[in-house]
Amino acid sequence: MTMRPWIFTGPSASSRDPARDPGDGLPDAVLFDRDGTLVADVPYNGDPARVRPMRTARAAVDAVRARGIAVGVVSNQSGVARGLLTRARVEAVQRRVEELLGPFAVWAVCPHGPDDGCACRKPAPGLVLAACARLGADPSRSVVIGDIGADVAAARAAGARGVLVPTPVTRPEETAAAVETAPDLLAAVRLVLGPAPGRQQAVPDPERPEPGPQWPEPGPDPQRRERGPDRSPTAVRTAAPS
Ligand SMILES: [Mg+2]
Ligand SMILES: [Zn+2]
Repeated sequence: MTMRPWIFTGPSASSRDPARDPGDGLPDAVLFDRDGTLVADVPYNGDPARVRPMRTARAAVDAVRARGIAVGVVSNQSGVARGLLTRARVEAVQRRVEELLGPFAVWAVCPHGPDDGCACRKPAPGLVLAACARLGADPSRSVVIGDIGADVAAARAAGARGVLVPTPVTRPEETAAAVETAPDLLAAVRLVLGPAPGRQQAVPDPERPEPGPQWPEPGPDPQRRERGPDRSPTAVRTAAPS
């Protein structure tokens, strides 16, 4: 098996809506984990009939699309390496997810196993980097939303922003270690999109020396975003429930 990820490109594989203001501070791309994030986690699922969206998934993905931001999926599918899934089964599930949640500009899938030593299986950055490359998105202006520590670790390794949306199966230590968490997918998306358009902007903080970019610097230190002077007023550690 090749050690490259599988990349599936949708009809709109560009990261930036030309109508968008280039200085709007919004991400180039928002990449979602699949299992346990967009849809309920059914281990090694190759059956489209068993695809069940998470509660706020459709609203969350639509909210990102509505701002002209590319949406993608980054998904480990080690069932392929284990002989439990075929590429055709993975694609059949993808089609069902798109029927339920609408089209994604890119799907980046790691078909390898944990011991294959590939560069794409999360927490490695390969899926995030490949998805961003396909979209023409800058990883440092992109976001990964997922349900386990490997998702946010992959984001960090790629220089992207990671937001954890814990589920009952998320380990407490992973939730505790996450820089940013949200109670559900829609809350996570609101966190990364900031105030809705037309709403009054937050009053500038007089403590801030001067206006800076809203986007936090990527860095190896997960605490850095907590302390950074450029932190957006909306980027609180834990989002309100939607
Ligand atoms: Mg997951
Ligand atoms: Zn891989």
